Amino acid sequence: MIRIGQGYDSHRFEDGRRLVLGGVEFPGERGLKGHSDADVLVHAVIDALLGAAGLGDIGGHFPDTDPRFEGADSMALLKSVMEELETDGWKVGNIDATIICERPKIAPRKAEMIASLEAVLKCPVSIKGKTNEKMDDIGAGLGIAAMCAALIER
Ligand code: MG
Repeated sequence: MIRIGQGYDSHRFEDGRRLVLGGVEFPGERGLKGHSDADVLVHAVIDALLGAAGLGDIGGHFPDTDPRFEGADSMALLKSVMEELETDGWKVGNIDATIICERPKIAPRKAEMIASLEAVLKCPVSIKGKTNEKMDDIGAGLGIAAMCAALIER
């Protein structure tokens, strides 16, 4: 059986936070506000996987009211979601994700983010970086959004 899922997430920038995307840190860039490390890309990937597997969503698994997830490493959350999928017999076929932001520039760090995600997901990962052409809040540089499609099979 093959199933598809899609995920979306967004976080606003906040001073005094580090920026982490796909498990890769961006030193010198403004970070994102969030209960966890606010890795918006990984959050979109998690929601795509959970949606594909019919297992709900990230908020249900890792509530932002739960102190256990304060400052959580989102890659660790992704690993636990992968274990859940594997327990149900699912393998990930591929992941296709888009990051939307005016900054940072995605292209120079794309290979690192892909390697980081592929190490956990054990499947081909594609990441595209887009700006929002200065339109709306993302375009005004208030935050970062990410979208993801995931194919799973068993
Ligand atoms: Mg999030």
